[in-house]
Amino acid sequence: MRRQVLGAAWSAVEPTPVANPSLVACATDLAALIGFTESDIQHPDFARVFGGNALMPGMQPYAACYGGHQFGNWAGQLGDGRAITLGETINTAGERWELQLKGAGPTPYSRSADGRAVLRSSIREFLCSEAMHHLGVPTTRALSLVRTGDSVMRDMFYNGNPELEPGAIVCRVAPSFIRFGNFEIFAARNDVDTLTRLVDFTIARDYPHIQGDETTRRVAWLTEIADRTARMIVHWMRVGFVHGVMNTDNMSILGLTIDYGPYGWVDNFDPSWTPNTTDAQGRRYRFGQQPLIAQWNLVRLAEALSLVIRDEAVLQSAIDRYAEVYTAEYDAMNRAKFGLPDASADNAELIREGYALLYDAEMDFTRFFRALGNIPQHVTDFAPEVLLGDVFYDDSKGAAQHERLESWLRTWHAAAHANGQNAEARQTAMHAVNPWFVLRNYVAQQAIDASTAGDDSKVHELLEVLRNPYNEQPGKEHLVARRPEWARHKAGCSMLSCSS
Ligand code: AMP
Ligand code: MG
Repeated sequence: MRRQVLGAAWSAVEPTPVANPSLVACATDLAALIGFTESDIQHPDFARVFGGNALMPGMQPYAACYGGHQFGNWAGQLGDGRAITLGETINTAGERWELQLKGAGPTPYSRSADGRAVLRSSIREFLCSEAMHHLGVPTTRALSLVRTGDSVMRDMFYNGNPELEPGAIVCRVAPSFIRFGNFEIFAARNDVDTLTRLVDFTIARDYPHIQGDETTRRVAWLTEIADRTARMIVHWMRVGFVHGVMNTDNMSILGLTIDYGPYGWVDNFDPSWTPNTTDAQGRRYRFGQQPLIAQWNLVRLAEALSLVIRDEAVLQSAIDRYAEVYTAEYDAMNRAKFGLPDASADNAELIREGYALLYDAEMDFTRFFRALGNIPQHVTDFAPEVLLGDVFYDDSKGAAQHERLESWLRTWHAAAHANGQNAEARQTAMHAVNPWFVLRNYVAQQAIDASTAGDDSKVHELLEVLRNPYNEQPGKEHLVARRPEWARHKAGCSMLSCSS
């Protein structure tokens, strides 16, 4: 069954039933979007279908064939080793959505692994997919989280201590789960026929607005992938998201964030931070390197597509779109983030120094920008601790930058109110791009610990709060506190392995 699949983009495979599927949580707004009612969700069949024990009429499950570059090296065939697409549905608005189970049992692409997923990583994928969506970041979504009732053996730290953990299945939802790696695999095998068919299929299905002759269409398509990828990365940099495993098999052809594994959120601002223990040595996928890695990945895609777009100059110009869009959007994003919207003013140095101070004074990324937004029009005392409050992780590092930060705050305050912009308008605009709530690693870990002990209330609480990440939510302050000291080096809170 497990094999190299040649000459085909997918393999028909059904989910393997589980012992006792039970629904832990459901994103009800997404359920409604694809046509499920509240009573559908409560019906035992819902957990049976999304736990892999039953199919709805018309579902034709399959697993996709893809390859990928992992940590910079070509890894050959990977494929949906534990993901099974159930089918697609067209909602009343005419939108097409694919439903895909993750952790539903082995497929031809499972290699030596079991095709399953554990509860802790499933909670993380479920919550983060929805958190990103509500933050306005392009992402695959998550409909449901189901406990399987089965146990799964995992060596969480890859240190020879495997343990049984509760199993779970997430149902992911997206218009398409096609990745860069779906194209790379056929190029690597020089299977131009399958590659051509997949390219034409993807353009026709997922980019129907692109018209023209064959070459025009394919080039416009690659250009749009570059464009969308750039915009996605700018969003990651805006909210402090670190994907952790930006292999080409984890890059969506639609520019969606996909495959939530050892991801993390920046607490103390540090461009060199990576949440992934597997990446701790080279830090290839560190926060500050994500823009470059996305570009590197796009070049791998362009290489694969060079078999069907046989004009190097044209391929290069498509890829160039990435840097153009990234540069312009990153700039605009930072101006919005710092409340300095006037594009004609040269605030580059002010922004650069702002980031330098975030790092040098070891400040909390999310809380810093919210605090900046809250600074009033008239300020007499520019002392950082007065204006910024509880943003410092290390008092001595904060104290060492006290004067530099105070002087920066003065300059920033003047620049932010130049051209008659008032503080109220600025605050509204800043709060719309600087979230109050992000899914901090330690907060997710507390929900995981509770669910592992049988109490899912924290998962439900987070699912509710993450729906309005830009609004302050009274009573939920414990979910937005900066990372406590106990979590600085705790597994799941500051570092994660790929084991999932
Ligand atoms: P990831 O690092 O999660 O993106 O996974 C890389 C590859 O390994 C993909 O092809 C996955 O489908 C596969 N994979 C990861 N975990 C499992 C598992 N437990 N069983 C089967 N395949 C897996
Ligand atoms: Mg993956």
